[in-house]
Amino acid sequence: MIHRPAPNPHSINADLHCHSRQSDGVFTPGELAARAHANGVQLWALTDHDDISGVAQAREAAAKIGLTFVAGVEVSVTFAAQTVHVVGLGIDETSSALLNGLSQMRADRDHRAKLIAKKLSAAGFEGTLEGALTHVQNPSLVSRTHFARHLFQAGHVKTMQEAFDRYLGDKGSAYVPTEWASLDDAVDWILQASGVAVIAHPGRYRFSDLEFDALFRQFRDRGGQAIEVHTGSHQLHEYDYYAHVARQYGFLASIGSDFHGPQESRHDLGSIRPLPRDLTPVWHALDVPMVHA
Ligand code: AMP
Ligand code: MN
Ligand code: MN
Ligand code: MN
Repeated sequence: MIHRPAPNPHSINADLHCHSRQSDGVFTPGELAARAHANGVQLWALTDHDDISGVAQAREAAAKIGLTFVAGVEVSVTFAAQTVHVVGLGIDETSSALLNGLSQMRADRDHRAKLIAKKLSAAGFEGTLEGALTHVQNPSLVSRTHFARHLFQAGHVKTMQEAFDRYLGDKGSAYVPTEWASLDDAVDWILQASGVAVIAHPGRYRFSDLEFDALFRQFRDRGGQAIEVHTGSHQLHEYDYYAHVARQYGFLASIGSDFHGPQESRHDLGSIRPLPRDLTPVWHALDVPMVHA
């Protein structure tokens, strides 16, 4: 009998965070699967914002090319008056608890979009809701990214970043504060859908040390298991810092590009540096062949 050693879990090229045009990415789930595969990704998750309508197509496309797929979602949460993103991995996309929760969030997005357009109109830009909607593929998911694309293409700003800095970001004149899901609800929906909950890009939040500690503890107490350590949304110096946080709180570590599109993302699918070897990768808690073969 030939002995084939199990693959070293750290040598797996995993990308567990990206967006299709079912939320605010530019590619279809099928195009993303092909791109991930071409870039050498071996374990791939689609994590659209507040929506799982792309999961079936992603799974089918991944299966055809022999790419191991994990169903995912990125849930918007409000914690201590800031927006936090919680990724769910390995979710059952037919879970009614998850579907019902996400559907309410998308209704809130529709309402917010109208208010953003009103503020942009006060800033002198008419027709921005209609403009944003021309970039929306999935009518039930409107994002600030769609407004940013419209403002950019209409020549109102020179870059997408400027659209966020001047208008759409939380310091911008068209910012509309929104009450997203509670942390407890988001983790609960993910767990009810048999998923693993992951705090996305913790380096992006502007919390005090005390607030971060409260976030990590509450998340862990509710059954959250992982944080993103190596993500396209972190600066390199944050890789080390959040590796340290994962050790400190006993979190599993996740990795992902947060890819939205070649023009808009600094990091392509599959291009993020592997996780430190002493951390346990989040796929140890997922039902994937790399771990359980
Ligand atoms: P939303 O969930 O609709 O509030 O939109 C948030 C999305 O906007 C994020 O997922 C990013 O894709 C994008 N985004 C947020 N801030 C920025 C920024 N400063 N520059 C570019 N994109 C951003
Ligand atoms: Mn996004
Ligand atoms: Mn995010
Ligand atoms: Mn994301």
